[in-house]
Amino acid sequence: PAAEEEGGPGLLARLVGRGEAAAPRRVLDDEMLESLEELLITADMGVDTSVRVAANLAEGRYGRRVSTREIKEALAAEIAAIMEPVARPLPLYPVTPQVVLVVGVNGSGKTTTIGKLASQFRAAGKSVVIAAGDTFRAAAVEQLQIWGERAGVPVLTAPEGSDPASLAFDALTKAQAEGADLLMIDTAGRLQNRADLMEELAKIVRVLKKKDPEAPHNTLLVLDATTGQNAISQVKTFRQMADVSGLVMTKLDGTAKGGVLVALADTFGLPIHAIGVGEQIDDLAPFDPEEFAAALVG
Ligand code: GDP
Repeated sequence: PAAEEEGGPGLLARLVGRGEAAAPRRVLDDEMLESLEELLITADMGVDTSVRVAANLAEGRYGRRVSTREIKEALAAEIAAIMEPVARPLPLYPVTPQVVLVVGVNGSGKTTTIGKLASQFRAAGKSVVIAAGDTFRAAAVEQLQIWGERAGVPVLTAPEGSDPASLAFDALTKAQAEGADLLMIDTAGRLQNRADLMEELAKIVRVLKKKDPEAPHNTLLVLDATTGQNAISQVKTFRQMADVSGLVMTKLDGTAKGGVLVALADTFGLPIHAIGVGEQIDDLAPFDPEEFAAALVG
């Protein structure tokens, strides 16, 4: 069928040869390894990671006849092993409030993710305050207010164009006074104005530390799975601007299988706290390495 031609199973079958999935068919040789590398690179896993995964797969199998099923299972196991160490939910600390700074380019899903997280924390009995730190985008503030209503969480805002650092400072003051468990701070994502954004984020962190030297306790980078390899450069860029402590990958419900997550895990080792699997409030899931690997391999 046409659908199979494009996805994992079709490609792997093409690599090994068609027929019964479990029947050993083709010898695993250099040609097959090269095709496998290519397949993994096409899936956004990055060159270095792809080459290594293919080499690991060849170990003990080189020159031997293999089946599609064997390659598929070995591949999924390799990928799951890379992802296992980074699959960690957002750590909760015994501090009040725990300050979570949320960064990422516009459109990556920051606002949505903050809403979903707030809802999960509320369900876990935590009190949450949200600060709408993207003060330059009125639409972002409005969106966040809608999410706050849905999650039953107050959203602190400031007049359009006002200093996000001052809002962050006020928000932390309020969250401290109220004894809130968590403060989540949205930020701007105007990468086209990199120097400004860097200064803005640095200033937010500076003023937060005036109130709590440990703040922010987490800096979450939100990435859009549909941007593929772009996610790598976004991590690099945001790590220059902020002390990124973990990732959330959104839009994994679509056609994007998120192969770039493997490259990210392999390159940066940053924890993946959650994945976005839809636009609704409950569409945020823990990252499950085995499920992910199985879906990626197809
Ligand atoms: P922001 O600019 O980074 O704050 O991004 P938004 O939170 O406004 O999200 C941008 C768009 O992506 C919106 O249309 C969201 O509904 C959509 N979105 C966010 N997360 C997900 C997800 O996990 N799956 C899908 N399908 N859409 C998402």
